[in-house]
Amino acid sequence: MVYGQKHKILLQTFMHEGLLDENKAKDLVIQLFGNDNVSVIVNQINEQLQVLNMLIKKVQCEITSQVYWVVISTVLDEVTRFQTEFSKAQLALLRHVFSEIITSNNRCIQSTVCLNLCSSADVKLSKTEAEEFLGDIVTRKWLVYKDGFYFIGPRSITELMPYFRATYEDNLSTCCLCKQVIFYGKKCGNCESLLHLFCLQRYAMIHNPMKCPTCNIVLPDDE
Ligand SMILES: [Zn+2]
Ligand SMILES: [Zn+2]
Repeated sequence: MVYGQKHKILLQTFMHEGLLDENKAKDLVIQLFGNDNVSVIVNQINEQLQVLNMLIKKVQCEITSQVYWVVISTVLDEVTRFQTEFSKAQLALLRHVFSEIITSNNRCIQSTVCLNLCSSADVKLSKTEAEEFLGDIVTRKWLVYKDGFYFIGPRSITELMPYFRATYEDNLSTCCLCKQVIFYGKKCGNCESLLHLFCLQRYAMIHNPMKCPTCNIVLPDDE
């Protein structure tokens, strides 16, 4: 199919939303093109986006396994990427939150601990401002909130990976199934390998009993 008006409409929606969940993207593609080949259409748009140094990328949430499409810039460095989105204080808070999550054992941070970070010297946000900001970035999928804890969100995983790589090189782990950077997942109790929950789900369909791909010990089925 030739790149045309319908692709432009779809691209505008992507740009406006920044991030679209799989179903919403599929509905839009069906409406516009009469088929549900989102990947094919996105590839056609991506060919045009190359000259603008932009890319629509697919990402899966580590917590909910929901699939999203995210528009990213392929040239902005980590500083620019942050500055286009947040105020200085918000940025400082977010950096603290990322740092706490990434260096924690379970790769998440309790919401009360998170709110206390707003009193850090470089943040200077009131609790109310911080709460509002955190709510906003959860809505926009920079962070994921579940059962009183904050996790790294799918939008951060796609857009801020250069920042994470530059800042936390020694703390980043790789999923032993898909070999991509992983923040939150299931840890093998024997060899401490980490696996994305969504990778593990696919793996479990063909492996029964489910064994750790690294050390071959049977993984307890607790998910
Ligand atoms: Zn994985
Ligand atoms: Zn293992």
